[in-house]
Formats: sequence, C-alpha cells, structure tokens
Amino acid sequence: MKNLVILGGGYGGMRVLARLLPNHLPEDVSITLIDRVPYHCLKTEYYALAAGTISDQHVRVAYPEHPRLTIKYGEIIGVDIEKKQVLLQGENSVSYDDLIIGLGCEDKYHNVPGADIHTYSIQTIEKSRATYQALNNLTPGSVVAIVGAGLSGVEIASELHESRPDLRIKLFDRGSHILSAFPERLSKYVENWFDSHSVEIVSHSNITRVEENTLFNHDEPISCDAIVWTAGIQPNKVVRELNVEKDSQGRVVLTKHHNLPTDEHVYVVGDCASLPHAPSAQLAEGQAEQIVQILLKRWNGEELPEEMPTIKLKGVLGSLGKKHGFGVVAERPITGRVARMIKSGILWMYKNHRG
Ligand SMILES: Cc1cc2nc3c(=O)[nH]c(=O)nc-3n(C[C@H](O)[C@H](O)[C@H](O)COP(=O)(O)OP(=O)(O)OC[C@H]3O[C@@H](n4cnc5c(N)ncnc54)[C@H](O)[C@@H]3O)c2cc1C
Repeated sequence: MKNLVILGGGYGGMRVLARLLPNHLPEDVSITLIDRVPYHCLKTEYYALAAGTISDQHVRVAYPEHPRLTIKYGEIIGVDIEKKQVLLQGENSVSYDDLIIGLGCEDKYHNVPGADIHTYSIQTIEKSRATYQALNNLTPGSVVAIVGAGLSGVEIASELHESRPDLRIKLFDRGSHILSAFPERLSKYVENWFDSHSVEIVSHSNITRVEENTLFNHDEPISCDAIVWTAGIQPNKVVRELNVEKDSQGRVVLTKHHNLPTDEHVYVVGDCASLPHAPSAQLAEGQAEQIVQILLKRWNGEELPEEMPTIKLKGVLGSLGKKHGFGVVAERPITGRVARMIKSGILWMYKNHRG
C-alpha cells in the first residue's frame, strides 16, 4: 500500500481530499493527513472571529471520513526529503511515498523590531482566538492600531468597528491609498466607508518599531491599547527551512506539475507554492485540483500533460462589516450590499456543498 501524506488540512489539503475521496482513490493508496488542528479551519473568516462577530464553531469544518484516510494531529517540525519522512514534535516521524505540503503562511514582520512580540495576529486559529480575547476585553475608548490595509487589514478594521463601535480604530498603511492591489475606485469606496464610520486611516505610514502598547510611525510614538499586524505574509516556517529552491518571497519553486524539480513525489500546494498569482484560498484549491490530476496519472502510469491549463480565478471579495462589501468579480469592480451578499453566499456554499 502506498501512502500519500498531506501536510495541512487547509484549503489546498481539503480540496485534494475532496477530489480523491470517496471514489477516486486507487485501491493500493492510503492517505495520512497531518494537522495541528482537529478540523479544517476557514481562515478567510479569521477577521470576524478576532473581531468577535462570529463564533469559533462557525469557522470549523469536519474532516472527511474514509476507511483509507488516517488523520493525525500533531505539530510538524520538518521534512526529511532524502529519507521521505515527516518529522513531528514529540512523536515518531511519518514515512511517505508521495507528499503534499500545504502548510499555509505566517505573518511577515519585515524586520520591524518588536512587531513579532507586541502585535496580535489573525494568521492562525490559535492567534486569532488570542486576538479576539485581547480586542474584546478592551475598555471603551481604547485605541486599536491595525498595521497594513490590504484585504485582511480592511476586513478586521471594519468588522471590529461593527463589533465594538466604542473603540478608536486606526488603520496604518504605507501607500497613499489603502487596498493598493485593488482598482482605485474600490480603494476610494472603502476609504469613504471608513471615513463615515470613524475609522481613521493613517496613510504614508512607516512603522519603524513596536513596543508594548506603543507603535512607532516614522519613529513617532503612538499609544495604543492593542496592535494587530496584517502587514505581510511569508510561507510557513517548515517550508522556509526546507533546503529547496525558493522565489523572492520564499515560496517553493515547482515544475508545471506542481512537484519539486528534484523530486516528483513532493508537491507543494497553496500559500507555500510559487505561482503566478497572489496567494489565496481559491488559488490553493485550483492548484490542488491539478495536483490530484497529476497524482492519478502517475499512480496509473499514464503520460502527464505537456502543459497544465492556467488556474482560473473568479475574483476577490472583501467585507465591510456584515452589510457592505467590495471586490472584483469577472474583472469588474463591485461594491455595496450585493458584493457582501455574494461573499456570504460563497461561504455558505463552501461550508455546505464542498466537493
Ligand atoms: C483574514 C483573511 C482573509 C482572507 N480572505 C480571503 C478571501 O476572501 N479569499 C481567498 O481566496 N483567500 C483569502 N485569504 C487567504 C487564504 O486564507 C489563504 O490563501 C489560504 O488559507 C491558503 O490555503 P493553504 O491550503 O495554503 O493553507 P491554510 O488554509 O492556511 O492551511 C494550512 C494548514 O496547515 C496547518 N499547519 C500549519 N503549520 C502546521 C504545523 N507546523 N504543524 C501542523 N499543522 C500545521 C494549519 O493548522 C492549517 O490547517 C484570507 C486570509 C486571511 C488571513
């Protein structure tokens, strides 16, 4: 029996399971999924968990069950590619025949001193819970700084305003406009929303240091009661420590069939993979679909396609609290209640009709 080991039951890992189970897994292949969390977590909703507008249970989805699927809970600390083994903290290592690494990403602090120690995060479920506790225990009038006004910074700032309108929220961003990756019309729409909801945007900021309850913008101290970091991501530590070729963002360089150039049995999916798009759940799922096709062909001894099709992305949607949203769908900017309703609908579909 061959063992396919999947590291991480995130969006990429779950899509692999959804496509192989229940009917497409060859009889001579078993799967071991390893994750530190006993359920699939909806990372795209961590901003709402941290803000306190949804419950913890809302972001959990049960892993599938199958006679040839073993789910192992544990902390992955490394991969020995030579020996084909996954190293776990305090437990025996796990051997694989084929491996898919889908461990997602972590905060990137850009060498800002103190940022890793004195800021809260929404990159893992454990950290989002800690952020929830900190934000929701603040006294009225407390100042919350959110560093980084990309999608997740904007989502947590607006959701927190909805959850705690008594807080003074400041959103710090390097650029002259927030949401720099989005069309200008959307940036302006979101800026107006923040303006009318008393969320302060601090443009052209440069966070040079963080101390306990103090953010230094261009070296000027600003007193804060809590600071949330949403100013950058990097691949998971396990992947950062892998001795394989990486791109300028530390993501693993892969062949067109999504495996390491030096090992056709090791695939990387999602935020840790070097792909021609910004990391997203959608991209992780699209890539996972292709990895499954390649695995099935290799297991069946079939020829691999010369070229893989481009992974199609449907667009990006962000929320501004529970009633408004923004995004780009089919290359068109959309704003307002419709954008929010589509986003909620996609989440509902994901939770109720996976696979
Ligand atoms: C606030 C926020 C909003 C977002 N909104 C969107 C959106 O609207 N649309 C979109 O497409 N994308 C969105 N994203 C991005 C999206 O969540 C990620 O791109 C996606 O989760 C990547 O999927 P993945 O499979 O690579 O990893 P993940 O989904 O992050 O899964 C990684 C898994 O690995 C496990 N793991 C990690 N390290 C270890 C370890 N050492 N040992 C054991 N287990 C480990 C984790 O527990 C987790 O289950 C958002 C992200 C955030 C933070």
